Amino acid sequence: MFDLFKSRKRERLRAEPFPDEWRRTIERNVPIVRRLPPQDRQELFGHVAVFLAEKHFDGAGGLELTDEIRVTIAAQACLLLLHRDTDYYPLLKSIIVYPSTYVVPGDQPLGGGLWEEGDDVMLGHTSHRLSAMVLAWDSTLHGARSMSDGENLVLHEFAHQLDFEAGDANGTPALGSNAQYASWARVLGAEYEALRRASEEGRPSVLDDYGAEDPAEFFAVATEAFFERAVELRAKHPALYEELRAFYEQDPAGWTTGEPT
Ligand SMILES: [Zn+2]
Repeated sequence: MFDLFKSRKRERLRAEPFPDEWRRTIERNVPIVRRLPPQDRQELFGHVAVFLAEKHFDGAGGLELTDEIRVTIAAQACLLLLHRDTDYYPLLKSIIVYPSTYVVPGDQPLGGGLWEEGDDVMLGHTSHRLSAMVLAWDSTLHGARSMSDGENLVLHEFAHQLDFEAGDANGTPALGSNAQYASWARVLGAEYEALRRASEEGRPSVLDDYGAEDPAEFFAVATEAFFERAVELRAKHPALYEELRAFYEQDPAGWTTGEPT
């Protein structure tokens, strides 16, 4: 997987000077990066350079792709890769960006063998079998710029990619040891059930309701909260926070407030 030629090329890309224009785009559009320790910021820039060299981007629905769009997506995607051995989302080849929400034609079963053509309005999507991800640019930008609301489309979709890399989309990414798998299953299983109950009873949670859909959505939603509502997540769900901290090898609750330094 990590062949020598590829890893040397990546090393070269990471060592190249990071374009000022890209840095300014990240500062403007992805303010969470300002909260990272300086060495993490450098690591992130290196990952962004590799990501942009390896992934194919396509504009759809009349969207003209710009470096701003590519860099804004890459910076968020690469936040999930810091500190870990990474193969840069190996299952994902291309990212298709729409200007806004887009409609996906779908078939809805009505029972009794009848089907109705239906349309789903989508903000973003990625799937286990496609090597593509679809994102709506307006939601991407909104999610990136509001860094404390626990909603971030790009972090959500890329968390799904990490899940897929480990095989089934079941809410468990590749972990380091059997002990880590055991505690992940115990903690995330219990937290998922708790969110389902809270959602049924209409009780608010740090975690978005959507995480009650299934364990894969739970992991994606928990990832959004981990990076964007870290202090609250750590206070209200300490065991969950700890599992995510161990997996991501990052501690966002300890980051600065993001004020310019
Ligand atoms: Zn999802």
